[in-house]
Amino acid sequence: MNEREIRDIEINKVNNKVRKNSEDIKAMLLNATWCEVNIKTYEKRIKHQEMLFNDIKSKLIKQIDRAVENAKKTHDIVDDLLKQKEALHAQLKKAHHFGMELCKFCERYFTPSGLKRHMTGCAKKPAVKKVAKHANEIKVEKANLEAKKAALIKLKEKEIADLQKG
Ligand SMILES: [Zn+2]
Repeated sequence: MNEREIRDIEINKVNNKVRKNSEDIKAMLLNATWCEVNIKTYEKRIKHQEMLFNDIKSKLIKQIDRAVENAKKTHDIVDDLLKQKEALHAQLKKAHHFGMELCKFCERYFTPSGLKRHMTGCAKKPAVKKVAKHANEIKVEKANLEAKKAALIKLKEKEIADLQKG
């Protein structure tokens, strides 16, 4: 081989490397573009999922609000029904004691003539209650007095006994 042939071979070798390098750059640029497309796609998907999440969340919050409202209404209805039950119970009691009258103090039923007798001494009548309390105080006082008397008698008996011994 002469020098010219050797030079051509060398040029050819380098040209091949240059071509290969250009192809690699093109392939990598394509790869980079593909990566950017992927990044944008995933970002879009995240935004879409966030939108769906927010939509479901706001629906669930509305459902909670509605359930709370319903619970309040239900409680009110239960309160009403309990009041009705109380009223019905009173009505039933009255029906069972048809023709009888209610003592306003103890809320028991009596015949009209029986009520007159009962009311004067009804245990729940405010004045009677005071008297009963007073009566009880007197009873306690009496008991104390009896105890003091008994103690005094015992003391006197002991004094007499001591005198008899001495
Ligand atoms: Zn009574």
